[in-house]
Amino acid sequence: MTKTPVTPPVHFIRNIVEADLAADRYAGRRWSGTPGLAVSHAEAPPDAARIRTRFPPEPNGYLHFGHAKSICLNFGLARQFGGHCHMRFDDTNPEKEAQEYVDAILAAVRWLGFDWKDGTEDNLYFASNYFAQMLACAEYLIEAGHAYVDSQSAEEMRASRGTLTEAGQESPDRGRSVAENTELFRRMQAGEFPDGAHVLRAKIDMASPNINLRDPVIYRIRHVSHHNTGDRYCVYPMYTFAHPIEDALENITHSICTLEFEDQRPFYDWLLERLAEGRLIRRPLPKQYEFSRLNLTYVVLSKRKLIQLVAEGKVSGWDDPRMPTLIGARRRGYAPEGFRLLMERIGVSKSDSLIDYRLLEDCMREVMNEKDERRIAVLDPVKLVITNYPEGAAEACPAPRHPLKPELGSRDLPFAREVWIEREDFREAPVKGYNRLSPGALARLKYAYIVKCTDCEKDAEGNVTTVFCEYLPDTKSGTPGADSVKVKGTLHWVAVAWAHAAEVRLYDRLFRAAAPGANGDDFLADINPDSCRAVTAQLEPGLKEARPEQRFQFERHGYFAVDPIDSRPDAPIFNRAVTLRDSWGNAAGG
Ligand code: ATP
Ligand code: MG
Repeated sequence: MTKTPVTPPVHFIRNIVEADLAADRYAGRRWSGTPGLAVSHAEAPPDAARIRTRFPPEPNGYLHFGHAKSICLNFGLARQFGGHCHMRFDDTNPEKEAQEYVDAILAAVRWLGFDWKDGTEDNLYFASNYFAQMLACAEYLIEAGHAYVDSQSAEEMRASRGTLTEAGQESPDRGRSVAENTELFRRMQAGEFPDGAHVLRAKIDMASPNINLRDPVIYRIRHVSHHNTGDRYCVYPMYTFAHPIEDALENITHSICTLEFEDQRPFYDWLLERLAEGRLIRRPLPKQYEFSRLNLTYVVLSKRKLIQLVAEGKVSGWDDPRMPTLIGARRRGYAPEGFRLLMERIGVSKSDSLIDYRLLEDCMREVMNEKDERRIAVLDPVKLVITNYPEGAAEACPAPRHPLKPELGSRDLPFAREVWIEREDFREAPVKGYNRLSPGALARLKYAYIVKCTDCEKDAEGNVTTVFCEYLPDTKSGTPGADSVKVKGTLHWVAVAWAHAAEVRLYDRLFRAAAPGANGDDFLADINPDSCRAVTAQLEPGLKEARPEQRFQFERHGYFAVDPIDSRPDAPIFNRAVTLRDSWGNAAGG
């Protein structure tokens, strides 16, 4: 039944890895078991991992659907090619980082089905543990004449950087001697200068057409405590300097990032070449590859906008089931397999792509249809009385747990004189083509009997309060007489005496515009006002015991999961993850 591909489709990064392996490009690497400079790997055995990739989030927020693409790609490649993927927190920026985010990120990666503990290895790293090695690399660059301390102000440096068409101007400090640079950098580290007094810059080429090579800053003074290293350092490396070194220390072979880092690749390569010349790191060197980030319709995937949604109370928090965060998705009931399937389907390329949100929903439906057991829930109940069924009598109607998996068996639905049906399954005055209940019409109560509608009762406002029917005793599902009468409509139902009333949250898309904020307006103006509607539904009895995060298909409605935050024991609250069919692009939903 599954359409999940057995052999993953090729894409350009898989091709690169295959070619590298075929050419033995990474043979001869050594791995001591812990990240480190060349000396620490020199006597180590050959690296048993055929490739090493990494997923390097900054622990400054919750992961969103875009990160899932990077996780599936990096961990997926390692799994496919007999390598390892490192979980690395890029926590070299002393501000904004928090343990809360570290924990949430680790949980999200595991939830997606990946692990940094793999076989005999446990590759969980924090870049801030490499500060000493990074300083050693910076000091080497100074000694080798590849870095200098610049005492210009930030504005002066900006003004002399040049433009895309004009070369930059060399700093008056560019000619400082190695001894002077060494001394100044030591004093910077010793805390002798205030923030911004000096920076350390790589000495490359102020006339380079690539602005990133015009003597980029590699260290700056920041008198701030770091969550891991406390007050030990008051100089911190720039991301573009730290990242290649992190990769090299960890023996990464393929360093995969999103396209906005493409212009940084020449500096990545320049830096690692210099450090390899100085024997601080070993060849073969890691290589950077860029792919286009995931963009999805009907959501925002920028950390800044997600923060705004939370801060302005547009959602209940980062884990609001409508948020495109992985904790939100988990709470809503989305399946990790659905994300993995989506990432295979959309592939990896360098061209910008905007993925239709429906593709994600279809992937979810596909895995949920296969996985999830079926249950009955009446979301908008109206009472149906079967007038010729004896009062006080009851019987069991077996219903399969999963139509595609008979091995799961069935559960018994209690049937009796009074049942709940959906309000929309009865119409006093039916329109043409309506084949559910109306006076005189026949329909099947699924897994039970065919009933014939006789009448209804209404309140003062004309709302139907009770529907009356008679049942045809020989037509019970699963008995020889079941097919003796033909009907078009089949309805689901729950016996009133056994039903469990519960809150069900009907989530829809958070934004009603495919590209929120695209027409220059504030993206918040595109919020869908009907993105959450809570109803009191009548559920089949067994659902009372459903556990947090357990998910089911509610027949005819969609896929629903028990909310892990707001539910109480014996009082589960259900979140609608996704409807059975698309109700957006084509009107004939439901
Ligand atoms: P910011 O730059 O605002 O801090 P970020 O989304 O880049 O946010 P990181 O923690 O740096 O956050 O991301 C970790 C990894 O996830 C990076 O390798 C990044 O390239 C990747 N990533 C982030 N967003 C996407 C996306 N939309 N699609 C694919 N990969 C992404
Ligand atoms: Mg980032």
